[in-house]
Amino acid sequence: MLADVALASELRALEEHSLRRVRRTVGGAQGPEVLVNGRRVLCFASNNYLGLADDERLRRAAIDALESSGTGSGASPLVSGHMAEHEALEREIAAWLGCEAALVFGSGYHANVAVIPALAGAEDEVFSDALNHASLIDGCRLARARVTVFPHRDLGALERALGASRARRKLVVCDSIFSMDGDAMPLAELVALAERHGAWTMLDEAHATGVFGASGAGLAEAEGVGERVTVRMGTLGKALGGYGAFVAGSRDLIETLVNRARAYVFSTALPPSIVAAARAAIAIVRAEPELRERLWRNARRMHAALAAAGLDPAPLASPILPLVAGESRAALRVAAHAFERGILAPAIRPPTVPAGTARLRVTPMATHDGEQIDRAAAVLVEAFRRAR
Ligand SMILES: *Cc1c(COP(=O)(O)O)cnc(C)c1O
Repeated sequence: MLADVALASELRALEEHSLRRVRRTVGGAQGPEVLVNGRRVLCFASNNYLGLADDERLRRAAIDALESSGTGSGASPLVSGHMAEHEALEREIAAWLGCEAALVFGSGYHANVAVIPALAGAEDEVFSDALNHASLIDGCRLARARVTVFPHRDLGALERALGASRARRKLVVCDSIFSMDGDAMPLAELVALAERHGAWTMLDEAHATGVFGASGAGLAEAEGVGERVTVRMGTLGKALGGYGAFVAGSRDLIETLVNRARAYVFSTALPPSIVAAARAAIAIVRAEPELRERLWRNARRMHAALAAAGLDPAPLASPILPLVAGESRAALRVAAHAFERGILAPAIRPPTVPAGTARLRVTPMATHDGEQIDRAAAVLVEAFRRAR
């Protein structure tokens, strides 16, 4: 086939640049240990930060909803797919975040590609951090608005760009915790800056939902700026252990999205069982701050062990610990060595991260024990030593 000849050569080029991706198949459930190709390894690769993906209470909630409400929602939310579980979840999310209303999306990717085009059109300008998640970048691409990318966390540059803009509407979008670096946007400063320039703010809390804030509602809660953020997006598939995402804000914001967010309007609503699991997860996250404390204790322990061995991790700002190896080939070598010794922490390569900054992205979870953290740290230190 003509197509196969072309595609095979492109795949070979990826391979030659150490950029070809392959999937591993995980057997059983997601936990601190996983089965990969029949082997037990410690998982330091997951966003299942609190261990809820394998929690008995979520499982029970999903099974109950499966039995009462079936497997599918059958249609998009505006047609007939918005079921009692969705309605209840949206009310609970709004109460949790202290917002007027919330809207549940199929995934975080869906939410981001839905919201930005719904809010920013041809007369508008979107201001986007250089290290924003791919789904925010794609949301910007789908919007007809002008897009200005500012250097990572550089609020001075953002301020100049906002000041120079003559757009009808200005929308600043960013991760609150950056997915591959684990660092945080300085939210209080960002929100104040946006307010000075009459700009709206959209915050992607994918890695902060369940992890930051007194009730786990995210970094906006932790920083006390929740009511001043225009659009708060969070995901249900990471710390909350299921699948899906939400956007929370004013009633008018949510009504606008119901009417205009194409990836919401034209996509089948989540299955009721997964929505029920999300409701159970939120109840646990709100009621059990000790889960977050355990997560942070493990993150601090891992960070201290890596720093003591001279691996130079970035300052600890979240449970995401990036260990930069440099070139893709080097990162692959370190990851392979760690895997051979029972630690799953895959290499993250361009275009997910900028060229020359390929890395291992190490994520401890609340459900690891101290011995597992220490063992993983020792293996990672040795893997980096050998690669040098
Ligand atoms: C994972 C992630 C998303 C996408 O969420 P999904 O529910 O996995 O589609 C969006 N933004 C950020 C920052 C993420 O890390």
